[in-house]
Amino acid sequence: MIRFEQVTKVYPGGHEALKNLSFKIDKGEMIFLAGHSGAGKSTILKLIAGITKPSDGAVWLNQHNMGDLSDNHLGFLRQHIGIVFQDHKLLFDRNVLANVLLPLQISGKYSHKDALKRAHMAIEKVGLAGKEKALPVTMSGGEQQRLCIARAVVNQPTLLIADEPSANLDRAYALDIMELFRSFHQAGTTVVISAHDESLMADYGHRILRLQQGRLI
Ligand code: ADP
Ligand code: ADP
Repeated sequence: MIRFEQVTKVYPGGHEALKNLSFKIDKGEMIFLAGHSGAGKSTILKLIAGITKPSDGAVWLNQHNMGDLSDNHLGFLRQHIGIVFQDHKLLFDRNVLANVLLPLQISGKYSHKDALKRAHMAIEKVGLAGKEKALPVTMSGGEQQRLCIARAVVNQPTLLIADEPSANLDRAYALDIMELFRSFHQAGTTVVISAHDESLMADYGHRILRLQQGRLI
């Protein structure tokens, strides 16, 4: 589903975030990106989502070379990717239901009734049933993260990518979040998760791509 071919990413200013990286991720796989802060994990996820482009080499998503796509085409592809990134903020002045409805309203593909049904399903899946009217500010960090995940999966993406989704959470909550991703994987979604704490990945038996200063080790 995802193929990196000798990918190098140099940011403006000359910092080489990724150096000659090649790997594949199969459809239906759940995989972890591990490495210290600054190792290049977010950069890989941004390349997969087409948020940034490689400086050299190629990133393939299904049959698409992400570097060759128009913004329109990328926007279309991204509707099939669920993204849980730290800079994708919740709307703090809108309740849980409104936050989850938003991606459906943006896609414009659903009637109001259908959108409501899908939003409620996503909210239930992440364990927030009954909290539809709550404002994010009144919720714990773990609940807010669940809300971000509900918003990412409400379009039923085939690929779910998450950048340090359990950062800033106590261990028990962090493990719950990992378990939640596992349930999406078991339902057939391809899942790519980054974390600097490898102990959260133990016991799962999934492949781990370990990064050090932009290289795969
Ligand atoms: P990680 O997610 O593992 O913490 P990142 O992919 O965010 O790593 O960053 C890899 C390296 O690239 C770091 O040294 C970081 O400072 C640098 N970097 C990330 N984004 C940018 C950017 N927009 N401009 C310049 N340097 C960046
Ligand atoms: P994380 O460690 O959670 O992956 P970062 O702190 O590396 O996140 O990055 C946060 C944001 O700042 C990202 O959007 C990234 O692109 C940007 N960024 C990171 N490092 C740099 C840098 N050296 N110069 C400019 N922007 C950067």
